[in-house]
Amino acid sequence: MKQTPLSGRCACGQVVFQAMTETACAVCYCETCRRASGSWGMAWVDAIRSSLSIHGPVSRWRSSSHAYRHFCGVCGTQLLLLEDEGEDVVEIAVGSLDQQHLISVDHESYLASRPEWAAALKT
Ligand SMILES: [Zn+2]
Ligand SMILES: [Zn+2]
Repeated sequence: MKQTPLSGRCACGQVVFQAMTETACAVCYCETCRRASGSWGMAWVDAIRSSLSIHGPVSRWRSSSHAYRHFCGVCGTQLLLLEDEGEDVVEIAVGSLDQQHLISVDHESYLASRPEWAAALKT
């Protein structure tokens, strides 16, 4: 997969990170992404786990039987998803990235769970 050095931070700025990531994202409308974001869902890019450099007050929660989600412990911004058996991949929440103009959509997941109001958004 093509990797690009990207950076990001949480909304309050106390957590900052850098990683080698893909730029084609997966948009996910699953219930956990919807509730965790308080919105229609979340968008994720895959990154090389060993390339991740992250600093600040990160907390995590068990979001499923096989993964943890990491977020800023101060402002609550969703930042990362780590699978227990994730090999060398970490998923990064696209909205936390600094280089929004580099991101494209690769695919959508859990379309059946997408809220009807989200389907009315302009694309
Ligand atoms: Zn924060
Ligand atoms: Zn999801």
